[in-house]
Amino acid sequence: MSKAYLTIDDGPTKNTKSITDFLIKKNIQSIMFFTGIQTIKNRKEAIYAIQKNCIVGNHSFTHPHFSELDLDECISEIELQEEQLNLLYKEAGIQRRYRIFRFPYGDKGGKNKDALQKYLKNSGFNKFNDNKITFPWYYESGLNKDIDLYWTFDFFEYKLEYNNGFTFEDIIKEINEMNPKEGAPLLAPDVYNIVLIHDHEKCEKSLQNYFYDIINYVLDQGVEFIKPEFIKPRSWLYI
Ligand SMILES: [Zn+2]
Repeated sequence: MSKAYLTIDDGPTKNTKSITDFLIKKNIQSIMFFTGIQTIKNRKEAIYAIQKNCIVGNHSFTHPHFSELDLDECISEIELQEEQLNLLYKEAGIQRRYRIFRFPYGDKGGKNKDALQKYLKNSGFNKFNDNKITFPWYYESGLNKDIDLYWTFDFFEYKLEYNNGFTFEDIIKEINEMNPKEGAPLLAPDVYNIVLIHDHEKCEKSLQNYFYDIINYVLDQGVEFIKPEFIKPRSWLYI
């Protein structure tokens, strides 16, 4: 059976509450990567997700391409959002156990990549335990060594919001693709994937219920969403 970790990027939005309720109903532990701009707009939704046991990670403050920024700007993007997340957890009355980071667009900072990895490591960010991922390309590209959390399967469902002919059927095709051009097959037997989907209001406007329909389809195909684990969660993090 195919297994997957669910990661949800770019929230919180007005849909985050309903997505959270859906995940509870399906007993799925997700990681939601919030940006600062969205957190400011949808604070109640963010707190709701935290209180309902979603693990919330840092997805930068303004969602820039990190390779277009200086190192200082990259770090301030991360730290500003760390402050937001700390406040959210505090307000939610929930202990923050993990500090996880995902680069917007998976852009790891170009020339600053090594410096940023060092920063994440020295600042105590938690590394997702990816030792069950077995795709050779994941190791060949060094993703297993990075502190930030990348992904192995992308639904590309955000393309729905461009209204340029990309349809739900295209997503289904991608899910069933056994030799994808990018990433890994989702439905191959005995694979573990880090799955990426987005919480986008524009996408919901283009195709209502896209999020639930995709996840329900994947569940119907027998994919089991499993609990993420992190390497060395440190007790000094947040009390
Ligand atoms: Zn993003």
